[in-house]
Parts: sequence; structure tokens; C-alpha cells
Amino acid sequence: MVIAYTAILGLLIGSFLTVVVDRVPDGRSVVAPGSACGNCGLQLGFVDLVPVFSWLALRGKCRRCKAKIGVEPLILEVVNASLFLALAIKFDLSWELGAFCALAAGLVGLSWIDLRTRRLPREITYVTAAIGVPLLCVAALVRDEPRRIWMMLLGAAIEFAFMGAVYLASKGGMGGGDVRLSPLLGAYLGWLNPGLVAPGLFLGFLSGAVVGLVLMTIGRGGRKTAVPFGPFLALGTLAAVWVGQPMIDALLHR
Ligand SMILES: [Zn+2]
Repeated sequence: MVIAYTAILGLLIGSFLTVVVDRVPDGRSVVAPGSACGNCGLQLGFVDLVPVFSWLALRGKCRRCKAKIGVEPLILEVVNASLFLALAIKFDLSWELGAFCALAAGLVGLSWIDLRTRRLPREITYVTAAIGVPLLCVAALVRDEPRRIWMMLLGAAIEFAFMGAVYLASKGGMGGGDVRLSPLLGAYLGWLNPGLVAPGLFLGFLSGAVVGLVLMTIGRGGRKTAVPFGPFLALGTLAAVWVGQPMIDALLHR
């Protein structure tokens, strides 16, 4: 039951994210005005905002002018809901489930914006941190494991130090937004186990390198185009939530 509810919540929040990724880069409000068709300005009613189902019912077109809405909102909603579902399986009903869902939603939004605009808006990083960090603290206290708060700070410090060093060494190759996001990612992994920061960063850099090489090989990208790194950092961090511990165990025990 928890899993089903969390997945539905993931769809709804994914639907809200489609508004966020559309407006935050332009500095527009995410609350008002309500969503409207980009072509004819038709205000979307409550029924139009039901994720996925409304999109399928209208086949991705505006109800009035039939302008294509595009498949992007659908992808965002499904990706976000899938992450929420996977987190619900891992954490069950708990404060940490709420905390990690906040992280997932924030990272989906940030990754999307980074892919489109090569920016990681600080507003989303800060809002995610303002929701997620207090939840992580509550989760630590509810579990009667206050040491997790120190683990969280340690993880944040390690990841920030590493990314700060990469930032300085890369001389502009790495965006400031990536560095700004890094303590939050480290805090989350640290809350689980500060050792997870290493596989989180490793998986992020590895996936970024692989995609970068593929882009270069097929002739896109190249030296001039900076590859947006936020999505890879996000990917590495989320992957480490599941595979980080097994990676560490395999390394230590061989
Ligand atoms: Zn329209």
C-alpha cells in the first residue's frame, strides 16, 4: 500500500516538476498563474493536470487547439514516480522515505533543467536541501540514531571538498552549480554511510565520462561543448543509494 501511494505521489509531484522545470530557469513563479497551453493559452483545469492519464487521453495534444504538448511531461512524471516507487520499496513508510523522495524530485528537476539549459538553478538546490535535511535529521532522531546527523555532515564535507578541488582543477570546466549541489548529495549518502560518497562520485564521473566519450565518438560534443554534469552527479548519487554498499562490500571482502 505504501508503495502504491508513494508511486502516485511521485506522479503528482512529477506533474508539478514539469511546471518547475518550465518556469524556474526564467525566474517565473511556480504557483501562479496556473498551467496553460503554451500555444493558445487555454487554462488547464484540474482534470488536465492528472498525470499520465490526461496525457494519454488527449494523446499529448491541447484539448482546444490540438497543439502538441510533447512527450517531456510524461517522461518527467514516469521517471519521478519510478524513483519514488523504488525508494518506497527500500525505505518503507518512514521519515527517510520522505527525505529521499524530496532528493529524488529535486534531482529530477535539476537534471532536466541542466540538460536543457546547462544550468543548475540554486533555488531548486536550496529548496531541496530545506525540505530534505530537516527530514533526515528527524529520521535520525526517530530511529534513535543521532550519530547519523554527524555522518550526514561528514558526507557533505567530503563530497564538497572533492568537488571543490575538481572545480579548481578544471578551471571552469566544472560548473559552480555542481559544486553548490555537492554538499547536499554528500549529506544524503553520508546519512546512510559516509563511505557511500566514494561510489556515488565514482559512478557519477564514470557515467559522465562514458557519455562524454560516446558523444565525442559520434562527432557531437567535442571540446567546445561542456557536457552538463548535474544529471551524472544525480545519477551516481541515486545509484549509490542502492549499489554503493554492495560495491564497498565487494571491494573490502573480494
Ligand atoms: Zn492550446
